Amino acid sequence: MVMNQPNLPMDTDQPTAHPIRILVVDDDMSTRLTLVKILQKSGYAVEQAANGEAGLDCFKRFKPDLVLLDVVMPIMDGYETCQAIRQLPGQAATPVLMLTGLDDVEAIDSAFAAGATDFITKPINWPLLIRRVRYALRTFATAQALNRAQLRQHQAQEIARLGFWEWQVDDDRLYWSSELLKMFGLPPSPQEGHLSNYLGFIPQHEHARITAILNEVYSGKQARAVFQHPFMVGKNAFMLRVIAERDGKETVFGVIQDITDVYETKRKLEFQHYHDALTNLANRRMFTEQLEDVLARNEAFAVISLDIDRFSLINDTLGHKEGDKLLQMSASRISGALEGQGLAARMGTDEFSILIPQQNDSTQISQIITQVQAALAQPFRLGDQQIHIETSAGIALAPQDGQSVADLLNAAVKARLNAKKIGGIRFVFFDPEQQQDNSQRLYLESELRKALGLNQFRLFYQPQVDVQSNRIIGVEALIRWLHPEMGMVPPDRFIPIVEELELVHEIGDWIAEEAVRQAKEWHDKGLNIRVGANLSAQQFTKNNLAQTLHNIILKHELPPSCLDLEITESIAMQNPESALSTLNQLKSTGASLAIDDFGTGYSSLEYLQKFPVDLIKIDRAFIKNILVNPSDQAIVRAILGIAESMGMRVIAEGVEQAEEMALLKELGCHEVQGYFVSRPLDAEAAEAFIVAYNNAQ
Ligand code: C2E
Ligand code: CA
Ligand code: CA
Repeated sequence: MVMNQPNLPMDTDQPTAHPIRILVVDDDMSTRLTLVKILQKSGYAVEQAANGEAGLDCFKRFKPDLVLLDVVMPIMDGYETCQAIRQLPGQAATPVLMLTGLDDVEAIDSAFAAGATDFITKPINWPLLIRRVRYALRTFATAQALNRAQLRQHQAQEIARLGFWEWQVDDDRLYWSSELLKMFGLPPSPQEGHLSNYLGFIPQHEHARITAILNEVYSGKQARAVFQHPFMVGKNAFMLRVIAERDGKETVFGVIQDITDVYETKRKLEFQHYHDALTNLANRRMFTEQLEDVLARNEAFAVISLDIDRFSLINDTLGHKEGDKLLQMSASRISGALEGQGLAARMGTDEFSILIPQQNDSTQISQIITQVQAALAQPFRLGDQQIHIETSAGIALAPQDGQSVADLLNAAVKARLNAKKIGGIRFVFFDPEQQQDNSQRLYLESELRKALGLNQFRLFYQPQVDVQSNRIIGVEALIRWLHPEMGMVPPDRFIPIVEELELVHEIGDWIAEEAVRQAKEWHDKGLNIRVGANLSAQQFTKNNLAQTLHNIILKHELPPSCLDLEITESIAMQNPESALSTLNQLKSTGASLAIDDFGTGYSSLEYLQKFPVDLIKIDRAFIKNILVNPSDQAIVRAILGIAESMGMRVIAEGVEQAEEMALLKELGCHEVQGYFVSRPLDAEAAEAFIVAYNNAQ
């Protein structure tokens, strides 16, 4: 080791910026000068002082690496000077060699007491002097380097959050390093305890595992064990990595690293990797991995795909912040309703998937999904608004509906799309035969985009009969698509597609205009007929709907009372507050308003009362079995009662038999519409039918 660089750390070979400095303090000039000369010859930089006081001044300025200090001096003797040097900041260890008289034992003792490093006797043995100086410098350098290394080790341990314990197994004594105690904010003592004290910081369920590991290390079964365990100090939870080794015969030595941060980060990353940030549900990645797992186990299971009907519309009307809240609340309702029976994941904006493991019994699955959809059907409070949503769900069962993750997910999604086509809150099981493949859908889409321009749409009209007078007083306009190859396409097959496209507005405007034009034509012919037009959700939530309709009415000079606008109950109740204001605007055009498909949604009577609605259309679902199902009859009776109290008229839809009509008349229903009177007819046929029907009365 190169020892002439005492004030540099040991691990560097860089030369010092200055030579080693020595201060000589002696009042005897000849000794002093000889010392200076000899030391300079050996390559040291030397300064001198003739008494203690001057020596101390020189020390402060010169900052020597070593001091040679005479004991007996005027003004301030060597002892005093040495003490004064030791009291300077950072000067506890700079070597001070005292020059004492030979055999002056007392002087030597006093020198050490004053803080001297060593002594050199006078008269000076010159060859020895240089060795003593070098030795003192080397010792100092070594000590300093060791100090630095220790300091660094402490610092390194602190930075790395390292510590250790030593477990004396035979008498169960466990010694903690001070770093360890410091790391966890524990008091610095006692540093010794028992294994049980250590375990006291570790959750109970980990004790057996950790004791077993330590015993294996102790018994030699494992030479070295690396393991992790949680460590609880009060409310603070740490995660520790331990490297335990047997150290000596009776001790196990454990190096501890606090890896809480790493662990937390890793956990967070893992969580983020597998979870949806908005809802905290599993994400698509986690879901597909779980699917792969259950597939690999050859178990029976079910995959459900669920989404919120018209979510983008809700999102647009509510604003994205509230839309996000709605998704979060939906996610937690889904999880809640599952009651641990399945894994829920968010697959896309408003698309959720549910995996029900070890179960493909359709009755059981139906129960689960019914529960989920019922939970989502409850109103949502968002700010001061009450929102209702409807969901569509599709179910694929394994193994019958698919052998791969992709097949099963696709099957569930296809079933969901079918559910959506039917509408309302609904779930549908995947049916391979019913599948309309993607290419078919794309074909419909591209044909639909051309349909308006090619004048392929028609409005058909279905009569509505006043039960009391038995006269046709209205018609409902129902769209048809006359396609050159597909023939007449029913609205159920294309309206749901249209509603997902921007096209919905153009087509909606066309319907309104065509209905108004036809109404005006009939009006001018003296036919006193109200024409009802269906409004899609997209139209209903568009800002300028009332204005658009008003303009159309003005353009065609139609008495506005000849126009009736139908809005489904579920659209109106989705966001009743904003529906109320839209309905008021629509009402101001002079048109009458009808609530369509009534009874299938979740109407709030509070709002229904506020809505400026003229007509309630009872959904066909309640009419279909009205003759045989007393509860349907009761529902119709109740609806009639409500309508009566609110001064609204009621139309029963889907009346197919004379008996149904008779019963409805008896119950007090105002109007009926259905195949019993007539199927929807084109304008010409409808006109002829109305004239003939009313003339016959
Ligand atoms: P909706 O508004 O509830 O229309 C009533 C549907 O019930 C019509 O089917 C009609 O043909 C059918 N219907 C009438 N009486 C009976 C009956 O006695 N028995 C049976 N089984 N069905 C009967 P359509 O024309 O196929 O329309 C289906 C749905 O398509 C409509 O339901 C409506 O939601 C939508 N739709 C039709 N035309 C339009 C439109 O111009 N604009 C919008 N936005 N949607 C429309
Ligand atoms: Ca002297
Ligand atoms: Ca309708």
